[in-house]
Amino acid sequence: TRELTKHYVLGGGLFSRRHVVRAVDGVSLDIYERETFALVGESGCGKTTLGRVMLRLHEPTSGTILYRGQDLSRLNERAMREQRKKLQIVFQDPYASLNPRMRIEQILAEPLRTHGFGSAEAIRERCAELLDMVGLSRRYLRNYPHQFSGGQRQRIGIARALANKPDFVVCDESVSALDVSIQAQVLNLLSDLQADLKLTYFFITHDLSVVRQFADRVGVMFLGRLVEVGLTEDLFDRPLHPYTMFLISAVPRADPRQRGRERPILMGDIPSPMNLPSGCRFHTRCPFAKDICRTEEPMPRKIDDRLVSCHFPLES
Ligand code: SF4
Repeated sequence: TRELTKHYVLGGGLFSRRHVVRAVDGVSLDIYERETFALVGESGCGKTTLGRVMLRLHEPTSGTILYRGQDLSRLNERAMREQRKKLQIVFQDPYASLNPRMRIEQILAEPLRTHGFGSAEAIRERCAELLDMVGLSRRYLRNYPHQFSGGQRQRIGIARALANKPDFVVCDESVSALDVSIQAQVLNLLSDLQADLKLTYFFITHDLSVVRQFADRVGVMFLGRLVEVGLTEDLFDRPLHPYTMFLISAVPRADPRQRGRERPILMGDIPSPMNLPSGCRFHTRCPFAKDICRTEEPMPRKIDDRLVSCHFPLES
């Protein structure tokens, strides 16, 4: 993406003031083939909106979405539908994302029919193959969603996303609603599928412990902007942006020696995206803020392999 924005206008009627919500506000980001890129941040920071705008499930306000050299933001509806075969999403809620009145076969066949996969026989065979791929028995094809557990439903959601052999998949909090043990199984499945099918994942989550085991690189989002991007290990070992440091310090620690140690706690609420603070958007919560932070917005800059938007990155 290049300078991608999504602004929503609220109000503006006869008696109400017009407010602009800057849900995504100038995000430039490269995602590499076959990597897992995790996008993290507190709820309301614009993660889900960014994922949807990248697939044009929501239309961008401005900016560019490049996919294999093609600018998706300029495609008409028909051309975009064709591209969508390759760009898919697995939603958060396995309970809400499957139509309860449809059999699994119908759910999986729908995207295949939309993209003219082939004969009824070929579609039936592909549906069975998709269930195999996600570790469910073919005999479930005639069942309805309510007959499955949460983890099984999420497997069906993944199968549906893979129906047309995509290469880029947005996973929007795809394991957040699941129990920890089921979460691990679904993450293992996603890893295996990535290796077998050469998938690229854009993994949206607020759960940093999942990110650490699963992602190659991480982007940290705050109030519509990316504040830090880097390799997972580097970012966890040595956060450069104060907001990243606070997010990481809130992750429960497995190492008993680390438990009970004092950790920095993030104070204050997230400012309203309708009324953004001047200068650095994080300055109202940042213990390191200086005068310049209140007046000048920090631009992203490169430090080693990292992109950081902060006037005073932690190392310095
Ligand atoms: Fe804190 Fe200033 Fe850096 Fe913003 S720019 S994160 S306020 S130190």
